[in-house]
Amino acid sequence: MALIVKKFGGSSVATPEKIMAVARRVLQEKNPDDKIVVVVSAMGDTTDDLVSLAEAITDKTYGREMDMLLATGEQVSIALLAMAFAKLGHPAVSMTGFQAGITTNETFNKAKITGITPDRVWQELNAGKIVVVAGFQGLTKTGDITTLGRGGSDTTAVAVAAGLKADHCEIYTDVDGIYSSDPRVVPTARRMKEITYNEMLEMARLGAGVMHPRSVELGKHYGMPIHVRSTFTRETGTFIREEYTMEEKEFVIRGVTHDTNVAKIAVLGVPDRPGIAYKIFSTLAEANIDVDMIVQSVRAMDKHIIDMVFTISQGDVPQARSILEKLNEEMDFSGLTIEEKVAKVSVVGAGMLGNPGIAAATFGALADAGINIEVISTSEISISCLIESDKAKEAVNAIHNRFFPA
Ligand code: ADP
Ligand code: ASP
Ligand code: MG
Repeated sequence: MALIVKKFGGSSVATPEKIMAVARRVLQEKNPDDKIVVVVSAMGDTTDDLVSLAEAITDKTYGREMDMLLATGEQVSIALLAMAFAKLGHPAVSMTGFQAGITTNETFNKAKITGITPDRVWQELNAGKIVVVAGFQGLTKTGDITTLGRGGSDTTAVAVAAGLKADHCEIYTDVDGIYSSDPRVVPTARRMKEITYNEMLEMARLGAGVMHPRSVELGKHYGMPIHVRSTFTRETGTFIREEYTMEEKEFVIRGVTHDTNVAKIAVLGVPDRPGIAYKIFSTLAEANIDVDMIVQSVRAMDKHIIDMVFTISQGDVPQARSILEKLNEEMDFSGLTIEEKVAKVSVVGAGMLGNPGIAAATFGALADAGINIEVISTSEISISCLIESDKAKEAVNAIHNRFFPA
C-alpha cells in the first residue's frame, strides 16, 4: 500500500477532456490498495481571468475579497475531477482547502500555511475514496478564505503530503522535469534527474516558476520527496530531495533563472544616521513586503547623505509607494524612484561555495552580451544581477551558454 499525493497544474486540467485524462491516468497507475489524494489548480488561465475581472472593477487591491474571488477557480476543478473519477467508476470526493484542514495566517494573497489537520481526508481515504483537494487556498483561524500566492497549489500538495505522512508527492506539470533553465526561454536547457531542496528552493525563490518556493521549503522541512514530472508522458522526471544519490555533479552551477516580477526602488538623499535603514525596512516588513537586493551607497561629495536601493515584487509596488511617501513626510528624502522595467537573472549551485570564478564568469557573460548590471547580490549558493527587463532572455541564454556549453 502506498499513500501518494499527486498535484496537477492548471494546464493539465485546462479542459473537460484533460480532466478526464487526468482521472484515467491516476486510476491506471493506482494499485488497488493505494491511497491517493489529488491536488488540483484552477483550469487553464482561470486565475488570470479572475484577476482581470477584479481589475475591470477597481485598480485598488482588496486582500480579502480578492482571495474570495481567486479561490473559486480551484473549486471548479475539484468538483469536475471528482465527477470524472465517479464517471470512471471510482468513488471520489472533492474538498476545499478548509475541508482538508488547511489553516493559514491572515496575509491575504500570499498567506502561509500554519497548520494542517487532515482528519476528513483520512476518513474519506479510509472509506476507499480518492480525495480531490483544492490547491492554492486555506482558511484563517477567524474563518476567512485566503490564497497562498500565485503557483501556490504546489505548496498545498506538499503540505497535504506532509500532514498525511505520504510516501511521496508528485507534481505533474507541462514540462517533464526541472531543467537547468526555463526550457521555454533557453532551448539548450538540460533536464536534471535530481536536485537538492536547497538548490531548488534558491532557483524557485529567484524565479524558476516551475515550483512554488514555499512548497520546496516545506518539502525540505518535512523530508518529503518531491517528483516533478509531465502530465502528458509517463517518463520519470526530476526528484527533489536532501542529497544527490546518483548523478555525477559535473557542473558547479545547477541552474540559471530569471525573474521579471521585480521593481527597483531608490530612496535618495536619506540622512546618514543610525536607525534609518531600520525604520524603512521594518515598516515595509510590517506590511509583509519582501525586500531583496539591498544596496546602501555613500555619496562621495556629501558624507551626511546616503542613497538606498532595493528590490521588491511588482505586486507590492502600490503599497510600498504609499508607505515610502508617508515615511518621506518624517524623513525628508530628496527623491524616491520606482522602476518596473527591471529583471533579476541569477545563477544557482551549491558548488559555487569557495569557487570565486563563478561570479567572474557570470559578469563576463553579461559583459560580452553588452548587458549592463545595475545591482548585484549574492547568497551562499547564488549570484543575482539586476538588469533591464528587455534583456532578460538574452542574459539568461548568455549565462547558461557560459556554464553549460553545448
Ligand atoms: P503548473 O500550472 O503545472 O503549475 P507552471 O506554469 O506553474 O505549471 O510551471 C511549469 C512551467 O515552469 C514550465 O512550463 C516552464 O516554462 C517553467 N519553468 C521555469 N523554470 C523552469 C525550470 N528550471 N525547469 C522547468 N520548467 C521551468
Ligand atoms: N491557480 C493558481 C495560480 O494560477 C495556483 C496554482 O496554479 O498553483 O496561480
Ligand atoms: Mg505552478
